[in-house]
Amino acid sequence: MFKPVGSRVDFPKAEEKILELWKDKKIFGRSVEQRQGKPRFVFYEGPPFANGNPGIHHVLARIFKDVIVRYRVMKGFYVPRIAGWDTHGLPVELEIERELGFSGKEQIEQYGVERFNERCRESVFRYLKEWNKLTERIAYWVDLEKAYMTMSNDYIESVWWAIKRLWDKGLIYQGYRVTPHCPRCGTSLSSHEVALGYEDADDPSVYIKFKVAKASKLPSDKPVYLLAWTTTPWTLPGNTAVAVAADAEYAVLESKDDYLVMASTLVEAVGLEGYKVVKRLKGSVLVGAEYEPLFNPHDFGVERRRMTEELPLQKANKDLRYRVIATDFVSLEEGTGIVHMAPAYGEVDYEAGLTEKLDFVHTVDLRGNVIGNYPFSGKFVKDADPMVLKELEKKGLLFRSETIRHTYPFCWRCDTPLLYYAKQTWYIRTTAVKEDLIARNDEINWYPEHIKYGRFGNWLENNIDWAFSRERYWGTPLPVWKCQSCGHYEGIGGIKELQDKPGFSGFKEPLDLHRPFVDELTFDCPKCGAKMQRVAEVIDCWFDSGAMPIAQHHYPFENDTLLTDGRFPADYISEAVDQTRGWFYSLHAISTLLFNKPCYRNVICLGLVLDAKGEKMSKTRGNVVEPWAVINKYGVDALRWYFFTSTAAGNVYRFDESMVVEVSRRFLSTLWNVYSFFVTYANIDKFTPTKVGAKSETSELDKWIISELNQLIADVDSGLENYNPTEAGRKIEGFVDELSNWYVRRSRRRFWKSESDADKLAAYNTLYQCLVTLAKLLAPFTPFVAEAMYQNLVGSVEPDAPESVHLADFPVADKTKIDKTLADDTHLAMKISSLGRAARSQAGIKVRQPLAKVIVKVEAKREREALERLTPQMLEELNVKGLGFVEEMAELEKKGYVVISEGGHSVAISKEIPPELLAEGVAREIVRRLQTMRRSAGFDIADHIVTCYRGDDYINQVMSDFADYIKQETLSKELVEGAPGTGAFTESHKLSGHEITLGVRRLD
Ligand SMILES: [Zn+2]
Ligand SMILES: [Zn+2]
Repeated sequence: MFKPVGSRVDFPKAEEKILELWKDKKIFGRSVEQRQGKPRFVFYEGPPFANGNPGIHHVLARIFKDVIVRYRVMKGFYVPRIAGWDTHGLPVELEIERELGFSGKEQIEQYGVERFNERCRESVFRYLKEWNKLTERIAYWVDLEKAYMTMSNDYIESVWWAIKRLWDKGLIYQGYRVTPHCPRCGTSLSSHEVALGYEDADDPSVYIKFKVAKASKLPSDKPVYLLAWTTTPWTLPGNTAVAVAADAEYAVLESKDDYLVMASTLVEAVGLEGYKVVKRLKGSVLVGAEYEPLFNPHDFGVERRRMTEELPLQKANKDLRYRVIATDFVSLEEGTGIVHMAPAYGEVDYEAGLTEKLDFVHTVDLRGNVIGNYPFSGKFVKDADPMVLKELEKKGLLFRSETIRHTYPFCWRCDTPLLYYAKQTWYIRTTAVKEDLIARNDEINWYPEHIKYGRFGNWLENNIDWAFSRERYWGTPLPVWKCQSCGHYEGIGGIKELQDKPGFSGFKEPLDLHRPFVDELTFDCPKCGAKMQRVAEVIDCWFDSGAMPIAQHHYPFENDTLLTDGRFPADYISEAVDQTRGWFYSLHAISTLLFNKPCYRNVICLGLVLDAKGEKMSKTRGNVVEPWAVINKYGVDALRWYFFTSTAAGNVYRFDESMVVEVSRRFLSTLWNVYSFFVTYANIDKFTPTKVGAKSETSELDKWIISELNQLIADVDSGLENYNPTEAGRKIEGFVDELSNWYVRRSRRRFWKSESDADKLAAYNTLYQCLVTLAKLLAPFTPFVAEAMYQNLVGSVEPDAPESVHLADFPVADKTKIDKTLADDTHLAMKISSLGRAARSQAGIKVRQPLAKVIVKVEAKREREALERLTPQMLEELNVKGLGFVEEMAELEKKGYVVISEGGHSVAISKEIPPELLAEGVAREIVRRLQTMRRSAGFDIADHIVTCYRGDDYINQVMSDFADYIKQETLSKELVEGAPGTGAFTESHKLSGHEITLGVRRLD
C-alpha cells in the first residue's frame, strides 16, 4: 500500500518535512560520498558577501548552480563542493563606516585601524545564519561547514603566492596614472568595478572661450577666442592645453565684438548666431598658438609642475601661457573640435601631457574637494561646477551653459560620482597577456553563446591593465615591501618566506595577516641594510574571489597536486551577467596570468532579476522581492520551476509573483493530481508494481506514453548535458500535460472498472513507471516534490532501492521503446479531438452529449490509417459512436454540418441528435451530478451507495434504460424511485428541461 495522497497539498509544509528527512539521513553527504572514485565533475562556488540579507537574485544563481550539479551526481560523477564567502573590501568597510557615522578615511585613522578592522571582521558573518538558512531551504546542496573564507590567513597566503608569481614575472608595477577614483571611499577602482556603476546623470554642458594671446595666422583687430566644450567644469582650473585635430578644417567666425575659432563641420550643430565665417584654416596651423590660462594656478595657491620624469615644480609666472597641441582623439562628432585638456583629470589628457611635456596642475584633493584659494575652494567638485562657471562668466569666458543627460560612472558601492584622477596606483599588466586572455576564452563554452565573443569577448579585446591596489584597510594586504632608505621593492609570496628574511621582526601571536599587524612586519633591505616595510595598500577584493580555485585549497602550501589531480579547471560555474566584468573576468584573468589556462569550461550566464514592470529592484524603489515571502507562500519547487522554465537562462527575469502561482497551478498541481489519482486507485485495487520487464504494454495508449517517456528521458538528459535546464524543464512540462490530459483521461475507465484484468494491470504499471521516472527526472529541478513522490512510490515497495531519489541514478532512455510514428499519430488524434471539441462548442452541444458520428478530413492516407488505428481513443475522447472520413467538406457544409478546419485538417458534426442519443446524454449528465454529489457528501471513491431519484416520465425512462450504466459509474447498488430517506444527501437539477431530484446514501 502507498501512503494516501490527497489531491490538495500544502507544498511549503511538505517541503519542510522533506528537509528533515534529508537532514536525518544525511542524504547530501551520502550523495557526494557514494560517488567517490568515480570521474570528477568540478564545480566552483562564486563567493557572495554575507554581510547583507540574501535576495531573490541570489536564489536564482544558487538554484542554477544546483540543478546542473545534482544532474551530474545522478549521472555518476563525484562532485564534492564547498561554499565560500567573500569577506573583504569596500562593502564591508562602508557598512562599518555607516555604523560609526564616519564620512571619510581620516575618521578611520583616528578611530584606529585595528579596532576598525576588528569590527569589519565581526560584521562579515552577521547574516551568515540567514544565508545558511536560505541556502538549505532552497535545497542548494553545497558544504556549508567547510566553507572557504577570503579573510582566513591560509586564503590570504595563497593570494600572496599568486601575486608573487606575477611579481616575479614582472607583471606588477606601480604607475602614476589617471585612474577612476572614488572621492568618498578614497581609493582607486578597477575598470571592471567602474563598469558595474554606470548611471544616467544630468551634468553641465558648457562652451568655454580660451583667449588667444599669440597666433600668427589669426586676426588681431579684435579679441580671438578658441571655443571648447566640456561637461566637467571643475576640471577647467586644471586646464593646461587645448587640442585640435591637425587635419581638420577650422573656421574663424566674426561678430561685432570678437572672433571665435572652432571646427568647421560643427559650426552648425553648435549654432553661432551673429557670427559669420571669415576665414578657414587647417588645424595644424593652430598648433603652437598660445592662450591665456582660464585660472593662473599661481594666483590661487596651487602648484604647477612639468610632466617630465620627476614632475618638477614650476616657478610662479604672472604671464603664464598655455598652447594649442594636436592629438588624434579630437572628436568631430560632438563639441567644437577643440578639446580642453586637464592632464590631472583625464586618461587621454594625461597621456598627451607626457608626450607634449605639458604642465600638470592638481586643483582637487583625493576627497574631491577643491584646494588652493579659488572662490570655490573647499567645495566638492560637483558643487564647485556652477561656481567655476560663475567665475568664468565674470571674466567673459563663458560662451554658453546648458545641461546634458548622459551616462556617467558612479562608485558601485557608495554611489558617489567617480573622478578620473592622476595618482600612483599598483597595476597588474594584464595587457601583456591580452592575446592569451582571448585565446583561453576560445576554450570556454558560454551559455548563452553570444556572451562569449559579445559581452565577454569585447571586454577582453578592450583589456586595460588591472588597477588592483586600494588605499583602504580591510582587505588582503598587498604583499610588497619597500626599503625606507633606498626605495628597493620586494614581493613576498608566503609567511615562511617572510619569516626567513634577514632581520625579520614584528611578528605577533596569533598570526593575523591583516592591517595593522602586517604593517609591523619588517626585515632588512638586501641592498642597503635599512628597514623594509610593507607599502600601505590592500588589494581589490575581486582579486581575492578570482583566486578561489587555488586559495580555497591553500595551494600550493597544501594540496600541491591541485592542478594535475582533476580539481582544476572547473567544469562548471554560474552567476549573473554582471559578473562578466566581475568574477568571470577575475577568475579568467588570474588563471591566464598564472597558468595560461582557462579557469572554467562551461558557464551559465544568468539574466538579471527585475521587477514585474522590468525595473531594477532597489531598496529606494521599494520593489525588492523578499525570497522568504515567496517561499513560504508557494514553496521552493514552484520558485525553482519558475526560474528554470519561465525564460531562457540568459534573458532578463521580470519577477512576478503571479507567475510563480501560475507555474504552481499549471505544472506542480497537474503533476500532483496525476500522482494522487494513481495512488488513490492503486490503493483501492491493492496494486503492487510488477518488476520492469515482466510485462509488456498492450494497448496503443500504453505504448504511446512509454514511447513519449523514453523520448523525454533522452531530451532531458541532453538538455542538462548541454547546460540548458530551461529546455529540459519545458519538455517535462509538456510530458506531464500529455500524461494528465491524454493518457490518464483516456485511461480513467481502465482504472475505474471493477474487474482486475491484464488491461488494468498494464495501465497501473505504465502509469507507475511514468511517475517514478518523472520523480528521477525532476530531482535536479524540483528536489522536494521528486523526493515526496519517490519516497512513496519506490520507498514503500522496493526495500533495496536507494533511500532517496537523490541517491538514485539518472534514468536511461530505452531507445527501442521510442516509436516516432505512434507519437505523431497520437498527436494527430489529439489535434482532431481538439477540432471536434471546437465544433461542438460552435454548435452549442455539450461534451457529454453523445453524437452519432464525426466526419474527418485528413491530408494523407497515412493519417487516415493512423486515426483508424486509434479509433477507440478518438471515439471516447470525442464522445461519438463512429468516425467517418471524407475527401471534401463542401457538401457537408451545405447540409448544415458545423465544420472546423485547421491546416489541412477538418472535422464536421451534425447538429441533429436522434432521441436515443439525447436520452444517453441525459444519463451522462445524471452520472456527472451523482459523482459531484458523492464528493460533496464526503464519500470515499470506493464507497458503495444507494441512489434515489424522482422526476417526470422522461426521467424515469432514462433511469431505467441506462440503469446498468448509471449504477456502474456511480457505484450505486440500487436505483430507487421515490423520495430519498433521511440521512441522504439530496440535490435538485434541471436537465434538458426536465426536473430531477437526486439523493445519495452511503451503504455501510
Ligand atoms: Zn565609493
Ligand atoms: Zn635599501
